[in-house]
Amino acid sequence: MLKTEDCGQLRLSDAGRTVTLAGWVHRRRDHGNLIFVDLRDRFGITQIVFNPDTNPDVHAAASDLHIEYVVRIKGVVRERPEGMRNSDMPTGDIEVVATELEILNTARVPVFHINRDSEVDEALRLRYRYLDLRRPRMQRNLVLYHEVALFCRDYLSERKFVEIETPILFKSTPEGARDYVVPSRLHPGKFFALPQSPQQLKQLLMVSGFERYFQIARCFRDEDQRSDRQPEFTQLDVEMSFVEQEDILQLTEGLLTALVPAVSDKRIATVPFPRLTYAEAMGRYGSDKPDLRFGMELVDLGKAVAGMPFVVFSEALAAGGQVKAIVAPGCAGYTRRQIDELTGRARALGARGLVTIQLRAEGAHTPLSRHLSAEQLQEIVSACGANEGDLILIVADQAKVVAAVLGQLRTDMGHELGLVDDNVLAMTWITDFPLLEWNDEEERYTAVHHPFTAPAEADLPLLESDPGHVRAQAYDIVANGYEIGGGSIRIHRRDIQERMFKAIGMSDETAQTQFGHLLEAFEFGAPPHGGIAAGLARLVMLLAGEPNIREVTAFPKTQNAVDLMTDAPSFLTDKQLQELHIEIAHQSPAAEPDDA
Ligand code: ASP
Repeated sequence: MLKTEDCGQLRLSDAGRTVTLAGWVHRRRDHGNLIFVDLRDRFGITQIVFNPDTNPDVHAAASDLHIEYVVRIKGVVRERPEGMRNSDMPTGDIEVVATELEILNTARVPVFHINRDSEVDEALRLRYRYLDLRRPRMQRNLVLYHEVALFCRDYLSERKFVEIETPILFKSTPEGARDYVVPSRLHPGKFFALPQSPQQLKQLLMVSGFERYFQIARCFRDEDQRSDRQPEFTQLDVEMSFVEQEDILQLTEGLLTALVPAVSDKRIATVPFPRLTYAEAMGRYGSDKPDLRFGMELVDLGKAVAGMPFVVFSEALAAGGQVKAIVAPGCAGYTRRQIDELTGRARALGARGLVTIQLRAEGAHTPLSRHLSAEQLQEIVSACGANEGDLILIVADQAKVVAAVLGQLRTDMGHELGLVDDNVLAMTWITDFPLLEWNDEEERYTAVHHPFTAPAEADLPLLESDPGHVRAQAYDIVANGYEIGGGSIRIHRRDIQERMFKAIGMSDETAQTQFGHLLEAFEFGAPPHGGIAAGLARLVMLLAGEPNIREVTAFPKTQNAVDLMTDAPSFLTDKQLQELHIEIAHQSPAAEPDDA
């Protein structure tokens, strides 16, 4: 080792020892004739003193040091003089008086501050990610990621799970998203696909008899990006044989309940985790990933407003829709502009309008007063359970629109009104998802979870007669408004899997070419099985209190699926393309292939 200890290690009890440290120049201060350097490595910071009286040559050499130079320093640990101690630093009682200095490497002036947590443009951070990752916050995040992964590995291994790797070069077998594909050089015209998840492979491992499998698995989905998504991401992937839904929920809940206090100072709001059916979640929160850190539940006003002479309400109800409200505490005083702004947001989310009631001390302020009597208004207010000072927001539309609009307004306002506690993780299970949903664009049913999910036993007969009403044995784990994982009990019989493929409009032939391996495997004694997968980065993001998963991913892509550091994706040489039997029909503009 080029060092005898790390920069976070030395204490008062080390005074008098000769040590060698190596790291980066974090800060440099010249005080009269003394030069102070804060030397940083992954483990901390140690103050180094260069004294011209005792070590003139070393002091002279130290004049050449700049920020982020890589140096090795030999010196003697001593107690800092009275008044110079720094109780904020673990090494703040000591300093090292340098007797030797070796510059291991120089450094350009960093493109942003590494020794300060300042706002930096994200594109610049991603372009120079290796510098960004030097910053203490990023170092903490990646170490936390490691701790979470390690904890999960240990927890599952102790419970007789085995980690098994599955291939990255796999077969294009659509699971819901678009595949990333890899051309085969040896088999012209054929392609591998990168797995969207190891779903089928882990099921096949159950057929193999492993019973308890897990993997920290890379997954690839060519989807449009959102702040909590990346084209490639990592799941804690689990599968078990001879289990029922309850077993998977218990295992996951046990793991999360043990994990959170072990690696973070977050508190889980409620254990055992509350459970909501999909229908309840949509009804009460307008979302299948509700943030349960605050109330503001959706109130159904259908009964209260039935028969009231306000066309917006009566038309919505007559068309089989809903009239629902949320109550925003303390917002009765919103100005005209603020109400217009909320209405604009509701429209952007798909509503035709937003009806508001502002419960002010002098009375209710609402456009409804032109249509309804004071008693009728009062009925609505009572149904909402609202009080003076509250703002009631009402949407009347089809259930889907009402949920989308009020669900999102609820989430946004909960945050804006400071109703969420950042130290709390509100975990909840969402169960009883529908198995299938109608896709207008494709004019067929698609699987809500994935096509390997088992229907609820009791709903099996509906698979052909009423597919839209079949419930799935599927569940999601949600925390603070984010889906952190999901899973299901799987189909393990060929006949049911075939019925499922039919239900999603797949021909026998396609089922055979795409999923023949799985169907065949089910003929060889496939045990009942089920599992779950949790997005590791999303979990770490919540544990770290970061706003998006890029903050906990070492080398993320942009929202646009580009790596700004290496400029990937990039062009291939003609030779590479020829080998792969590929001709490019439309080149991206503004770039020349690099044939070098
Ligand atoms: N493979 C599923 C997914 O990636 C998870 C599971 O069902 O276990 O969403």
